[in-house]
Amino acid sequence: MDSARTKPIDQLTEAEAVQELTALADEIAAHDIRYYQEDAPTVSDADYDALKQRNAAVEQRFPHLVRDNSPSLRVGAARSEQFAPVEHGVPMLSLDNAFSDEDALEFDARVKRFLRLDGEVAYTAEPKIDGLSASVLYRDGRLVRAATRGDGRVGEDVTENIRTIGDIPHKLSGSGWPSEIEIRGEVYLGAEEFAALNAAAEAAGQRTYANPRNAAAGSLRQIDSKITAQRPLRFFAYAWGLFSTPFAETQWEALQMLKAWGFQVTPQSRRVEGVEGLLEAYRYMEAERPKLGFDIDGVVYKVDRLDWQQRLGFVSRAPRWGIARKFPAQQARTVLEAIDIQVGRTGALTPVARLQPVTVGGVVVTNATLHNADEIARLDVRIGDTVILQRAGDVIPQILSIIPEERPADAEPYDFPHLCPCPLKTEVVRETTASGAETVVRRCSGEFACPFQKLAHLRHFVSRRAFDIEGLGEKQLTLFSERGWLNSPADIFRLHEKRDELLALDRFGETSVRNLLDGIEARREIALERFVYGLGIRHVGETTSLALARHFETAEAFVATARAAADQTAGSLYAELSDLEGLGPTALAAVLDFARSRPALLIPASASLEEHLRLAIPRLNARARTALAERFGDWASFEAAAAQALAQTPGEAFQELASIGTVGVVAARMIAAFFAEDHNRAMVDSLLGELRVIPAEKPKSDTAVAGKTVVFTGALERMTRDEAKAQAERLGAKVSGSVSKKTDLVVAGPGAGSKLKDAEKHGVQVISEEEWLALIGG
Ligand SMILES: [Zn+2]
Repeated sequence: MDSARTKPIDQLTEAEAVQELTALADEIAAHDIRYYQEDAPTVSDADYDALKQRNAAVEQRFPHLVRDNSPSLRVGAARSEQFAPVEHGVPMLSLDNAFSDEDALEFDARVKRFLRLDGEVAYTAEPKIDGLSASVLYRDGRLVRAATRGDGRVGEDVTENIRTIGDIPHKLSGSGWPSEIEIRGEVYLGAEEFAALNAAAEAAGQRTYANPRNAAAGSLRQIDSKITAQRPLRFFAYAWGLFSTPFAETQWEALQMLKAWGFQVTPQSRRVEGVEGLLEAYRYMEAERPKLGFDIDGVVYKVDRLDWQQRLGFVSRAPRWGIARKFPAQQARTVLEAIDIQVGRTGALTPVARLQPVTVGGVVVTNATLHNADEIARLDVRIGDTVILQRAGDVIPQILSIIPEERPADAEPYDFPHLCPCPLKTEVVRETTASGAETVVRRCSGEFACPFQKLAHLRHFVSRRAFDIEGLGEKQLTLFSERGWLNSPADIFRLHEKRDELLALDRFGETSVRNLLDGIEARREIALERFVYGLGIRHVGETTSLALARHFETAEAFVATARAAADQTAGSLYAELSDLEGLGPTALAAVLDFARSRPALLIPASASLEEHLRLAIPRLNARARTALAERFGDWASFEAAAAQALAQTPGEAFQELASIGTVGVVAARMIAAFFAEDHNRAMVDSLLGELRVIPAEKPKSDTAVAGKTVVFTGALERMTRDEAKAQAERLGAKVSGSVSKKTDLVVAGPGAGSKLKDAEKHGVQVISEEEWLALIGG
């Protein structure tokens, strides 16, 4: 960074300002090319915005120095030569940015000043989609041409590519559309689709995209529209350019028209009043952001009345009637000071980055997850490196990349520990799945001998949703296991034998020891689902534990089947097929049935594997056929694999486990693996020797809510969410976390948000907590 760049603007000499503006223009132009033409930016949006802001500030102080090619006079960059130029009927301009509540207040004040209004102004507040703007021209309701924004005046002709996007109608529906109109909106890629696209590119050894926006831009700007067609691009319409006849009086009305003509408009958009409304809409969009499934980078405010928009007009290149309120940067750079290793309950070693504190999206961040050794190797992150940190919603912050130029000369590659940091110093091994494949997870091979694992395991065992034993916190557990009193969960129930030793400890008086032992005694009777959950088997969470408890009813029945399943685990190919994404249980059964019966078939030799599958196994759906075709490639490989998988079909006990409610093959394999270990069986036996496990209650089938799917949302006043859930389930209802068309009932308390909207959308009945209690007679 040169000296001028860091110098406060009010201290720049005129000569320095000239130099600075030249440098900024070059730098911004270079970024624009990487961003707009190569879809491969090298700086964060925040850094880019900072350059533009500095340029604008220098120009403001030295207005006579504004260059002809000033970045502030341009929107976007020149188009690429690959596409034919298209002149927009009306230029595609971008909005000015706002970064704070004050900016929003100022915007509202400016609008009112200009229009000489006293009352509140109505605005629309729309999510600012982080994609690629496009303009689609319709004549007599038919799509005739589509263009990217380009430099705002002339864009690139991407008509053929735009035609491949499902959200963009080739023919407008409804009525009332002008005979000629340019529809404008954003081409974007959903978060899941982006991840899948990058995963596929990575697997194929191709270049990956930095973010969904670049992926959308790269996908839309393909020379071959067949490639674009394979990308799951989407489109939200929100504006228009040229139009032959007026069709709406307000922005809000116009959005409804766009919808009626067959476009998607963002469901989060709202019409708001005055400055209060603007600020409230911003908070709402901020809260919705992590749940949307696509990237937004702010909120767009527009004056609702189109005649007022007209009066407000433009100042230089941006409209006066609208503004883009941007979210604070979700990325920041900081220095990685250390990498710590944490050992979890299952012995997995998780590296955690310790960072120089930095504010990201309004929150101070000091740690970030590094996931695993492979991730450290992939990032090539070293202690002392400057890193780019990302925080998205409530997710744990993660490190996106490092800045190689800023690496200290003495930084050495990180050596992932080969020994567990526990006092045992046992060897660290790569975790394998039940089918024998290596995973990215490294774990301590010490199992229960590893004190870190033992502690994490005991912590889980006494946690609130498992045995819920008060007075046994981390400190006590550590102390007692150091003394050798706690080696396995069963030892907790033998702590009373150590009463005298406990009393001899510092800070353990008569009362606290009595309370502790009483607390433990109270848990000698335990519900089966808590017992199962407390075992801490991987992939066996609360829901799965409950399903197991309901199915087996007694601990003995569960343990007997789990032990039997331990000898019947599915073979690797069977396991792989049952895990194959796109191949559900029904499709797997169809494949195995086929392998069993081997019907004689007359299928043309030229048939692709997908066609062959369609003819040979009609019960397979398209998704399953694609999944199998991608995995096996040709018929002979598939046939051989199906036969092998059939031979590897697990035994009855295993299948019973896997078929229970939410358990599934993955958790069943974990249960089988758990009970295959001698020390685990001994641990369970010894624990059962101490306990009376209360058989699970079968859910009732004769209540008003039996068999119904219920969603609780908002604050409940008479009971906690957990209680409500447990009670509903006892009464035979299914409790779900999200509203879909399968939901029967939404119980909404104060503060219910998006789920209420979903209920409306799906026409699901909504009742209050009182009405719910009346319904169940509680
Ligand atoms: Zn260890």
